[in-house]
Amino acid sequence: MRIVLFGAPGSGKGTQGDLVLKKYGFPKISTGDLLREAVAAETPLGLKAKAAMDRGELVKDTLVVSMVKERINKPDCEKGYILDGFPRNIFQAEKLEESDGRREVAIEIGLSDKVVIERLGSRRVCSGCGAIFNLTLKPPRRAGVCDVCGGVLIQRDDDRRELIEDRLKVYHGQTEPLKHYYKKKGVFHRVNGEGTIDSVFEAIGRILDAVLGRRELGK
Ligand code: AMP
Repeated sequence: MRIVLFGAPGSGKGTQGDLVLKKYGFPKISTGDLLREAVAAETPLGLKAKAAMDRGELVKDTLVVSMVKERINKPDCEKGYILDGFPRNIFQAEKLEESDGRREVAIEIGLSDKVVIERLGSRRVCSGCGAIFNLTLKPPRRAGVCDVCGGVLIQRDDDRRELIEDRLKVYHGQTEPLKHYYKKKGVFHRVNGEGTIDSVFEAIGRILDAVLGRRELGK
């Protein structure tokens, strides 16, 4: 089973992906996290990806696709995996399908642009372990300190106001058309991402339980 979580930046894909990982045990693959790690480590991939990331644009498809292919071929992905932030356009979705034709479910976490802008402005991430916080929705117990590892919380460079609108444009232009792609395949679901973290996860859980055959959708 492949679980594709998609939605605008700040829609909660990372947070929900972590909860799905905890409950269902599938590894979560975040292309944003993998790319940020590569940038920090100054690997050849990181050096190539950095400029596009700094501008809030998508990194070249060929680079991201080969990074994902390598990751999903690891033994922990054998039973299934969760994708957070990939595919970001139809080309990536087609390449993914070509290289791994397993059963999939795509869940859009829907959010208005206004809420995206508010959310990204108050998002903080741990510079140590990458845990995600939000100053209003999920504040850390101690200001500026990660609950998980005690690391320092920072604002992601691309969460600065001036880049948010560019990232939203990229989302609407390139990623949103994936809705139709997955609708055509009959695997598309949508949850309202404007609720609490728990209520969004409940909605995602209902879809996954139904798809995985645990109980009927809606119950
Ligand atoms: P995210 O953490 O998912 O918001 O990703 C942060 C940045 O990494 C994006 O703005 C892109 O520059 C890059 N990125 C992440 N995933 C992809 C992808 N699937 N394709 C191209 N670029 C990506």
